[in-house]
Amino acid sequence: MTVDALFRKIALQQGDITRMAADAVVNAANSTLLGGGGVDGAIHRAAGPELLAECRTLGGCPTGEARITRGYNLPARYVIHTVGPVYRGLPADARMLSACYRNCLKLAAAYQLETIAFPAISCGVYGYPIADAAAIAIEAIRDGLSLYDSIRQITVVLFSGTDLRAYERALSALRNR
Ligand code: ADP
Repeated sequence: MTVDALFRKIALQQGDITRMAADAVVNAANSTLLGGGGVDGAIHRAAGPELLAECRTLGGCPTGEARITRGYNLPARYVIHTVGPVYRGLPADARMLSACYRNCLKLAAAYQLETIAFPAISCGVYGYPIADAAAIAIEAIRDGLSLYDSIRQITVVLFSGTDLRAYERALSALRNR
């Protein structure tokens, strides 16, 4: 695949990820997988109580890994739950954040999912600086797309315009590198 074809599969948009009719939406969960605030709370509210019931059967998820459930009342068929690092300014933060994106895409490919929506993992309560997180996310997404041919479209859904612009900058920086 050409570099252009790869980048055409990455879309950025501002909005609410709970409204995305993708094969899977990614949840920035905490390690209990039992719900929380931010995007996690929004996904659980929109999916309904059956999502929490399925999450209870999973026994949590370590930082950097991913788990999959059904999407219940969401327009998305599946939810891929991943646990981002709490930002501490250490090299391990970047490795863990990258692992989140890679492990989500690996799971999506194993389930033969074609369209996936990501939020800005770790960029809320977990405090990851958006510009650094965006660069890591875009690179990991590009690598995932080159590994897994079955994935047709990845949309990163940003809640704020500021976050969207940070992602736009990261995307053009990597494309022009
Ligand atoms: P974390 O604990 O991983 O930092 P948060 O949920 O606090 O997770 O924040 C992650 C990102 O998700 C933040 O950039 C936040 O603005 C964004 N966010 C919150 N709600 C939604 C939503 N409904 N759709 C898309 N993004 C959201």
